[in-house]
Amino acid sequence: MKATVFHKHGSPDVLTYENFPDPEVGLNQVLVDVKAVALNHLDLFVRGGIPGLKLEMPHILGSDISGVIKETGNAVSDELQPGQKVIIDPGRSCGVCEYCIRGEESLCAEYGIIGEHYRGGYAELISVDAKNAIPIPESSELNFNQAAATPLTFMTAWRTLVSKARVKPGDDVLIIGIGGGVALAALQIAKLAGARVIVTSSSDEKLEKALKLGSTIGINHRTNPDFHKEVYAFTNRRGVDVVVDSVGEATWEKSLRSLTKGGRLVTCGATSGPKATINLNLLFWKQFEIIGSTMGSRSELRDVLKLVWNGELNPIVDRVFPLSKAQGAHEILEKGEQFGKLVLNP
Ligand SMILES: [Zn+2]
Repeated sequence: MKATVFHKHGSPDVLTYENFPDPEVGLNQVLVDVKAVALNHLDLFVRGGIPGLKLEMPHILGSDISGVIKETGNAVSDELQPGQKVIIDPGRSCGVCEYCIRGEESLCAEYGIIGEHYRGGYAELISVDAKNAIPIPESSELNFNQAAATPLTFMTAWRTLVSKARVKPGDDVLIIGIGGGVALAALQIAKLAGARVIVTSSSDEKLEKALKLGSTIGINHRTNPDFHKEVYAFTNRRGVDVVVDSVGEATWEKSLRSLTKGGRLVTCGATSGPKATINLNLLFWKQFEIIGSTMGSRSELRDVLKLVWNGELNPIVDRVFPLSKAQGAHEILEKGEQFGKLVLNP
């Protein structure tokens, strides 16, 4: 098969499009003909090298995959058949530890992500455990590019907002850095939950697009770094109930200052850096909750997919590239120029 791989960590030019042996199909696995694979920031981190993450080289990136089952292992149930359209749940876990039994797979000590810990979908074929292959219902109108833009982003945004931040009708939700897949999914989920949504971005163009998707106001955090003041003014000096911050270091303090008393700040990424300080007086006196969230469980993915399949949540695709042009797609993602997902087609 053809695949885009890297033999060593580095800048986007380490990605090469080349021949790679077809994957083997285990007893409990399915072989998937990859139709589309969406990029995530994770791809950039893995390509650059994550301290402590040892990969078998060459590595294949790609966590968000859609495709068609080509072959099934001998022990796979009849529910999955060749020809079935599927998306892939990117999470793998042991299935037997206390967290897995609780249905909290992303807390499992052996939790790993396809495309990060395992070879992923920047390839014509991938074999995955049958339990990770989720059929796309006949009724769904999503094309393969939209389907590939779904699993990681919507699962992550759902856990962040619904399970962790406990968003409810009437809440004010502030989403930092609109434009990425998780933030756009979070915007739609918050709206669907009946919340009022404020977004920030360094780009006026992205803020304009977010308004069309239902945000009530947009604040440019580059030209207006004290965005918390605008949040305060907009909420009649109350502050917001929930902040979703995946930017980290650059926005952390202002995110905290945007919260109302008893508010919840959920961190689900740190694209600008991982170091943040916190004023403990502020934390206990205002009784904030600071909550970490990452990825999601199988049941959270199933929950959010129901709303994607029936069209109430819409994966947003920015641009589609051939798999051989993954380098260019990485460069665009690195500059943060996208609004929605960048997708590769093998
Ligand atoms: Zn486990």
